[in-house]
Amino acid sequence: MDAALDITPSSEHIPLILIVDDDAVSNLMLSEVLHKDGYKTSVVEDGQAALIACQKELPDIILMDAVMPVMNGFNCCRSLHILYGENCPPILMITGLNDTDSVEHAYKVGAVDYVTKPFHWAVLLGRVRQAISSHLAHQKLKQALAKERLLLKELKIANQQLHSLATIDGLTSITNRRVFNERLEDEWKRLCREQSQLGLILIDIDYFKAYNDTYGHLNGDKCLCQVAKIINDCARRPADLAARYGGEEFALILPNTELEGVIHVGKLIQEQLRNLAIPHVSSKVKSIVTVSIGAVAIVPAFSKSPQTLINCADQALYHAKNNGRDCVIALSNSMIVE
Ligand code: GH3
Ligand code: MG
Ligand code: MG
Repeated sequence: MDAALDITPSSEHIPLILIVDDDAVSNLMLSEVLHKDGYKTSVVEDGQAALIACQKELPDIILMDAVMPVMNGFNCCRSLHILYGENCPPILMITGLNDTDSVEHAYKVGAVDYVTKPFHWAVLLGRVRQAISSHLAHQKLKQALAKERLLLKELKIANQQLHSLATIDGLTSITNRRVFNERLEDEWKRLCREQSQLGLILIDIDYFKAYNDTYGHLNGDKCLCQVAKIINDCARRPADLAARYGGEEFALILPNTELEGVIHVGKLIQEQLRNLAIPHVSSKVKSIVTVSIGAVAIVPAFSKSPQTLINCADQALYHAKNNGRDCVIALSNSMIVE
């Protein structure tokens, strides 16, 4: 059986029945019969007292006389529904025999069923059992729904985390190489059709091995995050994309950007890094962290692949390294222009 719909009362849970009636003799008999049938009971003598009893402990079912002093059963039933809403225990109204008006009234104020006085014990017990099992089934269904909602929420969070793991670099929190490759491929195809320039920048931190050796790997990680943030902040247009290319290398895709613009962004990165002035005493260029940058821009062709652009940027970066580092070298059709 589906555990969520198992309505068998558990051995630990003995249902509690609240009897609300001003007839003391009737209450005594009711309690005895219900006890014999395995229920716990508590007894109060009017509607007002029933509201107070429910505040202390909400019963599993209420047997409520219709006509009582202080507060009658109809008003009490209405108040309980207002107070407890969908958590209101089922209410069985006790009416006089053939009192059809009261029966009608009882349903109107939210009673689930009624029993008539004098009691027919078999009928009374049957209706009590029925009301309790529907109530328990309803409660279990509600619990199952709440659990399902929670699971769905957890699943949504897990999916978001999975998506983030697949697309974001764990250390620097910028786009990873996988997304970089996909985006470059997409932009290559798009700009092939558009016949517009696709710019690419490759950035490599100078003497970073020495940085790690001097300041330790953890500070090296921190430095990578600072450099990544600068590069990411320089990706200003919606289609620009900054990514960690690998190790201490970063890449920046700049669609629809002429070489002049690509060089400008490269120099902006250098300038921002200079302003941040992260100390690097073992660098052979300066006493602060610097980067070498290869910048390219080409109009993509269907006959070639994005690897053409990467090779070109790599070549520019190679020249930047050979040119003393801490500089931007740009290539246009394999000609050094900066
Ligand atoms: P160059 O100026 O020629 O670029 O020299 P370099 O030392 O920067 O280059 P090299 O390729 O010799 O060393 C790169 C270093 O980057 C070595 C490696 O330990 C470090 N590195 C790569 N990934 C990480 C990382 O995630 N965290 C840290 N702390 N260091 C990293
Ligand atoms: Mg490197
Ligand atoms: Mg390096």
